[in-house]
Amino acid sequence: MTKLIIFDCDGVLVDSEPIANKILIEVLGEIGLSITFEESLNLFLGKSWDDCLRIIKEKLPHDIDIDLTNTYMTRMFAEFEKSLSPVPGIRDVLENINYDVCVASSGPHEKIRKTLGITGLLQKFEGRIFSAADVKKGKPAPDIFLLAAHTLKVRPEKCLVIEDSLNGIKAAIAANMKAIHYIPTNSFYKNTIQHKNITQISEMATLKKILNCK
Ligand SMILES: [Mg+2]
Repeated sequence: MTKLIIFDCDGVLVDSEPIANKILIEVLGEIGLSITFEESLNLFLGKSWDDCLRIIKEKLPHDIDIDLTNTYMTRMFAEFEKSLSPVPGIRDVLENINYDVCVASSGPHEKIRKTLGITGLLQKFEGRIFSAADVKKGKPAPDIFLLAAHTLKVRPEKCLVIEDSLNGIKAAIAANMKAIHYIPTNSFYKNTIQHKNITQISEMATLKKILNCK
């Protein structure tokens, strides 16, 4: 029986990926790395910022002469303040859920708190927030999910992960957890894995039914 629902943040709780990828593409263009929206999703979706930076440095033929992390985060946070929304239907799930919940995100703590704060979801997860910054290896390694389970004293097989990225789904499988892969109908990114522990859904109303919310 499931005891803990582990939510990814970006693309599951907050609709941040279109904004984050748009800003990242702009900033990368300014330092001489031109990529499309689809390439950006394929390269970076669900990965920690450290892993993203490593990939960017590998692709660039020259050193980066600006503080890329600070430039990206500052512009992204400004855009979040203007236009970030919760993922459609997730507020209804969270208001009616009968399980313990937590967040396990590849983003830094500052980004998780910022995005959950703007969308009014922070209170639900206060004290139960796990970031890739808390572990050595980010998703697709299972470390962050295992840290969440261990900290909240729930065995991995009693956890259910909600994820939108393939890296997150791979991390859940590696952690021996069941997972739900949320792939909205209008998503540009539809890569998934067929596996006995993985269920695909295209809207949060289905998650509400699966979790038997009121
Ligand atoms: Mg995500």
